[in-house]
Amino acid sequence: MIHYYLDKRKTQEPCEALRGDKDSKYFKFYNLSTLLHPFKFIYDILLEEFAKDLPMLHILMFHYVRNNEDYSYDCYARRFSEFESQINFLSKNLDVASPGDTEKIEYYLLRDDKSACLLTFDDGYKDHALCSKFLQSKSISAIFFPPINAVKGELLDVNAIHYLIGERSISKDELLKYIVLQVKEKNLRIRSFIGLPVTIEEYLRQGAVSRYDDASTTFIKRLLQRDIVDDSIRRDVIHKCLSFFSNLNISEHAKDLYLSAQEMQQMRLEGMYFGSHGLTHRWLSRLDAKEQEAEILKSFEELEKLSLFDKIQDPKVLCYPYGSYNSETITIQENQAVTYSLTTHVGAATGNLSSSSRLELNRWDTNDFWCDQWRRPTMPS
Ligand SMILES: [Zn+2]
Repeated sequence: MIHYYLDKRKTQEPCEALRGDKDSKYFKFYNLSTLLHPFKFIYDILLEEFAKDLPMLHILMFHYVRNNEDYSYDCYARRFSEFESQINFLSKNLDVASPGDTEKIEYYLLRDDKSACLLTFDDGYKDHALCSKFLQSKSISAIFFPPINAVKGELLDVNAIHYLIGERSISKDELLKYIVLQVKEKNLRIRSFIGLPVTIEEYLRQGAVSRYDDASTTFIKRLLQRDIVDDSIRRDVIHKCLSFFSNLNISEHAKDLYLSAQEMQQMRLEGMYFGSHGLTHRWLSRLDAKEQEAEILKSFEELEKLSLFDKIQDPKVLCYPYGSYNSETITIQENQAVTYSLTTHVGAATGNLSSSSRLELNRWDTNDFWCDQWRRPTMPS
C-alpha cells in the first residue's frame, strides 16, 4: 500500500515536517482524500489497485541518526543500532543502488516485479560521518545533502527550531505563548497554512494536522519555519526565543551539529555522493524564480569547490529543502540539466530518468521501514 495519508509513527522527523505546502502533490492528494472522506475506503482500494502497476524504487530518507541520551535535547532520531539493523535488513532483502548508478536507478524505476532501494541523508549532520563508515564497511554508497550555509558554520533556522522544541527544560505551550506575544506586540504579519494573510487568532483556529507532532509543536514549527512573513523578521523571533528560553552558544552548536568540509571529503573517499539541498535551506516554492535559480546553481558550484561534487562524473541530484518546489523549480532544473530530484512525497519512486517525472521522485521516511511495536526493520505496509 502506498502512504499518501498521515500516520502516527514518531521516531524520526523529516526536516520538511510540514506537508501543507499548497504546491505539493501530497497536499493535493491529502485534500482529495479528505474531500472524499465518506468514500475513502473505496478510494484506498482504487489507489492500491493502481499502485500494483507501479514500478518500485524505494528511496529512503534519513535525518538525525543518534542516541538522544548522548545530547542535551531530544530530536526525532533513528538510533544508531536501529540504523545498523535497518541497513542489514535492506541489503539482505533488496538491491541497494548506488546514487551514481543511474542505469540501475532507471531500471528499477521502470520495474514492477523487482525492488531496489537508494539511501539518502538530509541536512549534513555530523551523525552521518559514522553512517558513512558503516555503509562503507558494507560496500554501500549513499547520497548526502548538506545545505551550504550549514557547511559554512551557520545554524539553520530548521535546526534552531529543533533545538527549541527538543530542549527538555522548555515547555512547548510556554514557547508558543511567547511567539504569539511577539506576533501581537510587534504586529507581525503572518500567513495561514495555505499562504493567505490571517490574524494570529485566526491562525491558531486552523486544524494543525501533522504526521509527527502535537498541535502546539506544529504551530511553533509552522510559524517559525514559514508563516511569520519575512525571513529576517522570522529569524529575529527564533533568536529571541533562543535567548529567552536558553543560553545556547549558537556558533558552537552549529559546529557540533554539522559535518565539516574535511569530514565530508573523507566520506567522499569512503564512496559517498553529495547533492544539493540549497544554499540556505529555504522553501523554494516561496522564492521567486531568480532566487530559486541562485539557490540551485550556486549550491552545486559550492559543492564543486569543496570537492564534494564532480560535474563530469557525478549525477546532479537535488533534494528539495522541506520538500518544497513549484513549476518554476522544475523549469530551472530542466535548464540546469539536473539528473534527478527528491521530494518528500511519501511512497515508492516511479518515473523515468528521461522525463520530467525524474524531478519529482517520491521518498519513504526511515520510519516507514521500521516497526516501532517490535523494534525491528520492516518493509512499508
Ligand atoms: Zn532539510
